[in-house]
Amino acid sequence: MRTLTVDLGERSYPIHIGSGLLESAGEYLEQLGISKKSPHLIVTDDQVGPLYLERLATALASSGYRTVHAVVAAGEKSKSLTVFEEVMTSAIEGGLDRRSAVLALGGGVVGDLAGFVAASYMRGVPFIQVPTTILAHDSSVGGKVAVNHRLAKNMIGAFYQPEMVLYDLDTLQTLPIREIRAGLAEMVKHGLIWDAAFTSWCREHAEELLSLDSESLGYGLEMGCAIKAQVVSKDERELGLRAILNLGHTLGHAIEAVGGYGELLHGEAISIGMAASAKIAVNRGLAPAKLYEETKDLLQRFGLPVALPEHMDEERLIAAMMHDKKFVSQQLVFVLPREVGTVEIVPDVTLDEVRQVIRELKE
Ligand code: NAD
Ligand code: MG
Repeated sequence: MRTLTVDLGERSYPIHIGSGLLESAGEYLEQLGISKKSPHLIVTDDQVGPLYLERLATALASSGYRTVHAVVAAGEKSKSLTVFEEVMTSAIEGGLDRRSAVLALGGGVVGDLAGFVAASYMRGVPFIQVPTTILAHDSSVGGKVAVNHRLAKNMIGAFYQPEMVLYDLDTLQTLPIREIRAGLAEMVKHGLIWDAAFTSWCREHAEELLSLDSESLGYGLEMGCAIKAQVVSKDERELGLRAILNLGHTLGHAIEAVGGYGELLHGEAISIGMAASAKIAVNRGLAPAKLYEETKDLLQRFGLPVALPEHMDEERLIAAMMHDKKFVSQQLVFVLPREVGTVEIVPDVTLDEVRQVIRELKE
């Protein structure tokens, strides 16, 4: 078992990573001093629920915790105010009070939704993340919780830190391969922005990670969480440094939007975005030419895409980026690599530079 701490003063919290943690969930809640008198709410989705809800609820019951459950439809559509209200109804009908905890059992969708419920129910009750995807090593750490608005993703939310992240590696065994790859894209991103040695380790352990070898996965997730935790500890509310976590996301978000949030998974889109960032950095002389080849090679080892789908129209991608918060006075904010493990927030990438890289990434 690996434990690390997200250092945020009085809002600090532990991340436990290991096998068989669901079975011991009751003991972890006891460590936090979670009340046994109040009922607690487990939020999950209809793919994760049938696999792991009973295991978690039974473990909690055996320690004397009573739980009620809200099962939402799997997928991004559940990050909505409508589903938020349904989960609130479950919380009220289940008799949750101020000492009740909300547990998110699932991937980033459930984590973001349940976290916003926890932040809002009676103005805030304890929140516990029980992530079940690799991508959720990213989403469960850092305290950003939100639902989407019809017009924009993650538009309605809060900064609300969990009391604990309980990461049971056993749950990852049922992930579809595409979700495994997409989650590993964010792990690789954490290396690329912060740690050259960890990036090399990822390159050397790609096969083990893809086959969910538990030793490699435990270490990779620990490092990914640790890097995210360090960045967040330095800039909890994204006033500066935290933006480096957006490597690959300026173009990545546009790719997701143009693909209608369904063609490519988030991790796949940011993989293309990371390749593009490396290319822009090389084109403007910020990074040596080999960085682009190295970045592509690394991502391809994980079976991730590094080229833009042919049908993605240049002007639609540009238009999507211009709607982004990162577009200011005809220029785009990009996180660009200088070398492996070091990035820079560059506020003045021109639309011409982006157009050029879009063409280059289709060749
Ligand atoms: P997800 O929650 O939709 O999970 C992906 C799919 O895998 C779903 O269909 C889910 O039902 C299924 N699944 C989950 N765990 C499983 C398991 N163990 N076995 C089998 N199937 C399983 O998506 P995700 O990729 O985990 O997260 C994406 C979401 O996270 C997005 O909404 C994104 O905005 C958000 N996110 C938030 C942050 C943040 O800081 N809060 C960071 C990154 C991403
Ligand atoms: Mg991301």
